[in-house]
Amino acid sequence: MKTIEFDEERAKTIFGLLTDFWHMARPLIKLPQDRLPLLKDASPEELANYLFFLAIFQRGGVISDTPSDAVHRIYATRPDLFDPFRVARMTKDEILRAIEVETVLGYKIEEFAQAWIKNARFLVDRFDGNALNLVDAPDFAEAYGRVQKKLYGIRMKIFSLFVIWLQERGLVRRFAVVPPPIDFHALRLLISTGVVKTENLEEPIPAKILDTKTAKEYPQLALALVGRTNINVNEWVTDSVALGCMERIEKFGYTHLDINPGMWTFSRNFCSKARQNTLSRRKSRLLDPAVLWAEPGLWGKTQDACGVCPVSKYCRRVFPSGPYYRFGRLVPIERLDRFAADRLIAYPEEPEKVRLKLIVKFLTRDGNGHAVAPPQRTAVEQISLFVDP
Ligand code: SF4
Repeated sequence: MKTIEFDEERAKTIFGLLTDFWHMARPLIKLPQDRLPLLKDASPEELANYLFFLAIFQRGGVISDTPSDAVHRIYATRPDLFDPFRVARMTKDEILRAIEVETVLGYKIEEFAQAWIKNARFLVDRFDGNALNLVDAPDFAEAYGRVQKKLYGIRMKIFSLFVIWLQERGLVRRFAVVPPPIDFHALRLLISTGVVKTENLEEPIPAKILDTKTAKEYPQLALALVGRTNINVNEWVTDSVALGCMERIEKFGYTHLDINPGMWTFSRNFCSKARQNTLSRRKSRLLDPAVLWAEPGLWGKTQDACGVCPVSKYCRRVFPSGPYYRFGRLVPIERLDRFAADRLIAYPEEPEKVRLKLIVKFLTRDGNGHAVAPPQRTAVEQISLFVDP
């Protein structure tokens, strides 16, 4: 039988590090939900309803800034779309016309419009049009149980995210424990650092992926993947990891309000800049150690994130995003530790100072890759409190 296993000691260690990381990083980072366009005097109900609609756009495998920024822009011209009573009287086509101006919302735009209207109607019919009533329950499990399979496109991951957004703003004080939303970023960090053990979920990728529509678009990558070990990620995997994390966060005395953003930000800002987490220039080769040793040019000239990563000593395997985004598969690659060699070659002087500056560079980006520049000195000082000497 397939099971998700946790390494208890490692979970305790990594959750502790992520908590410290998040306490240090929080003032330096702007999350998508920090840029809400609502007026300061918006009521708790208006704020909760806005977050409810915003959450719809985080479905799929990755939580991201891009759709959030688009939803913020939609609000600027059409605030009526965030009033469930008014939306409930609209047609799906009206919603579609209003949101399709945001092309970044992509090919799922029809589904988003559907979710927008169906969920507004559900909110009006069952919860008096007030998203705060969704969390009027003694615990997360009961709140989620009341809406499970009734909200369109909102499953546990999205519902958790919505609850956490409310909690971050003090709009709900219940629910001491909430399963952290497990998207690609969270999952790969948990597996890379050995918190989650997936050996019994791993199996070779079957040749039948060559028959898929995606394989027609990415034939070289599809060929490169056949036969490689992978984890086929599905809802059972992400929900099991989320519930397992929730149990251990509580057991070790941490909080999901630190672990969730800490995990997401860490993987998004550091792991996504690990050289081996990208594909080669031809977009088809996975950068196994043997490939990099044979063609060192593939490593590139700039320092990658692993070389300055504060948890690298726990990280044995990396998971490039390409196979996941395109085929829904987590494909492990043995991590090649080039840290010492890179420092010697690229940064002969004051390596520790350079390392801190690089950490700041990686850390202070938003999800769209834009620098969110805090004063450099403050950032370096903050980070030096966290990073091992
Ligand atoms: S060593 Fe690299 S892949 Fe591993 S956790 Fe750090 S940045 Fe991520």
